[in-house]
Parts: sequence; C-alpha cells; structure tokens
Amino acid sequence: MSRKKVVVITGGAGFLGSHLCDRFIEDGNRVICIDNLITGSMKNISHLMGNKDFEFIKHDISREVQLAGPVDYILHFASPASPVDYLNYPIPTLKVGSLGAHNTLGLAKLKKATYLVASTSEVYGDPQVHPQKETYWGHVNPVGPRGVYDEAKRFSEAITMAYRTYHKINTKIVRIFNTYGPRMRIKDGRVVPNFIYQVLHGEPLTVYGNGKQTRSFCFYSDLIEGIVRLLYSELSGPVNIGNPDEFTILEFARMVIAASGSKSKIVFKPLPKDDPKQRRPHIGLARKHLKWSPKVKLAEGLGITMDWFSRNLDRDKESAAIREAVEQVALVS
Ligand code: UDP
Repeated sequence: MSRKKVVVITGGAGFLGSHLCDRFIEDGNRVICIDNLITGSMKNISHLMGNKDFEFIKHDISREVQLAGPVDYILHFASPASPVDYLNYPIPTLKVGSLGAHNTLGLAKLKKATYLVASTSEVYGDPQVHPQKETYWGHVNPVGPRGVYDEAKRFSEAITMAYRTYHKINTKIVRIFNTYGPRMRIKDGRVVPNFIYQVLHGEPLTVYGNGKQTRSFCFYSDLIEGIVRLLYSELSGPVNIGNPDEFTILEFARMVIAASGSKSKIVFKPLPKDDPKQRRPHIGLARKHLKWSPKVKLAEGLGITMDWFSRNLDRDKESAAIREAVEQVALVS
C-alpha cells in the first residue's frame, strides 16, 4: 500500500490555513499544521485534533524548522493578513514573509517537496492598472504603513523564484484577492468582519474615506479550490485567484445592511494611508490553465458568513483562553 501524501501548512490555524487543513484531510492526506497562534486560533482546528492524520505544531516559522519523515507538499500561509494585524505586528509580518519563506523553502529543498506560497493582491499596491493582471509590477510604497506586508510578500515571491531557478524546486505562487468567510476573526479589522459585527450589534457601519474605493470579494471555498488546482497543476505562477465582481465599499456597506435587515446607519471615517483605490483580479490565467472560476456570488457568501458570525460571536474570547492554555503547555514541555 502506498503511503499517504504529507502536506505541511504554515499558518494552518488561521482563516485560510485551517480551511486548507480541512481540505487536504478530506482528500486523504496527512497534514502537519504549523502555527504560532499570534493571529491564528486553536478553535479553527479543534475539530481536527485527535485525527491520526493531523498533527499540530506550535512554532514560529520565522525560526528554523526540522521535521522527521517525508514531506510532499508545503503551503506557506503563515502571516498576519489584515491591515490592522500587520500594523500591530510589523516585525513578525516582515519576518514571516522573509525568514519564514526562507525556512519553508529550505525544507522544500531538503524534502524535495512541491512548494506553494500565499502571496497577495497587495503586491500590486495602489494599482494604476485595472483590473490587475499577473504581468503588472505594482505600485507599492515600501516605507508606508502597508509596506511591511506588501514588501514581505514581494520578497516571498522573489525568494520563491530564486529557489525555483537556482535549486530547481517545484514552486507555485498564488496571489490572493480579498477573501472572506467563516473563521475570520470578528475583530480582525477587515471590512467584511467589521461590517458584519456592526450590523449584528446595531452599530453604524464605518466606511473609510468616501467609500468609492473598490474591492472584489472571493468566498473562501472558491479560493481553496483554486489553490488546490494550482498546487497539482503544471503552472508555477504567479496566478491571481479572486472573484472579479467588483463593488465600491459604500455599495458593500448597503448590501450588508440590506442582507441583515438591520437599521444601522453609515458613518464616514478617515481613509487609512495608502489604502488602494481600486482592486479587481484579472483571472484569465486561472480560467485557462486551471479551468477555475469563482462560483459563489457575494450575496450568497455574505449570507453564509453572517449566519456563521451570528452563531460564533463569543468565539474569539474562548480561543484566547485556549491559546493561553497551549502556550502554558509549550512553556513547560
Ligand atoms: N474599510 C472600511 N471600513 C472598515 C474597514 C475597512 O471602509 O471598517 C475599507 C478599507 O479602507 C478598504 C476596504 O474597506 O478600502 C477593504 O479593507 P480591508 O481592511 O478589508 O482590506 P484591504 O483590501 O484594504 O487589505
């Protein structure tokens, strides 16, 4: 009998990482989930604990990692990902995109594993080309507040390409556009959880700037499918995976109010520095080579996400307690 494939997922206790853990377990693989839990949560993976094919390692991937046994695939997803988080953790964000990418690429080289790195639409910065194709080099302010994330991800892409050409490892780069769904932290500061939290609490929705800036929101299940297809494809990327349906933030706020039936009002707050004015993926590459396109419309995905949040409002408090417990175990072991 052939052995199960081993998939290492960094950031595996995060929003997207935990959905990837689920998917690779469901598909019959062994999963090693590595997370330092600064923005990830044990709650996202608690249902997998005890599964003989699932292993959780609490570790900061910015530090060297050693794993026994074979590894077939490595997906580097560890990083704070919301603007609020990466402003709170600027140095860990830079380290996980640089040292974390270096460590995981080193592991891929040693184990002869296929490597996939989570990059982002943020590599396009405040884009001057619209929609954004993979061939666009971007418009990033390296010394602005978002630079810690944008430049870390740009470095991740560069070092991934260097390992591909110099060490001949099989690599893939996915550029992820605004993704949402169950397991986002309600207080992570991004627009989807913020607006949902606000309507659920009857608070006004905080639109930054005049709300004319645009985003294109992708439901997590579509994104996961795109990533899995990329991993098993011949394509190395970078490949955009996102939903090209584009909305202004003001339109989105009205949509959230309408979907919830809430009487919340809209208030306008200052626009954060360097906030991109427009963002929409060009997905021709994924359509053609991965036969992938998003299936879930925003109205449908939003309904599922709101329903999930309304049932899980206390979840983040509980997971902080679990995180403390895990940290204590890590300290004594
Ligand atoms: N935004 C907003 N109100 C909020 C949170 C965010 O108007 O309470 C805006 C933000 O300024 C940006 C867009 O929504 O233009 C998306 O922000 P998010 O933090 O979700 O992610 P980004 O795409 O900027 O990384």
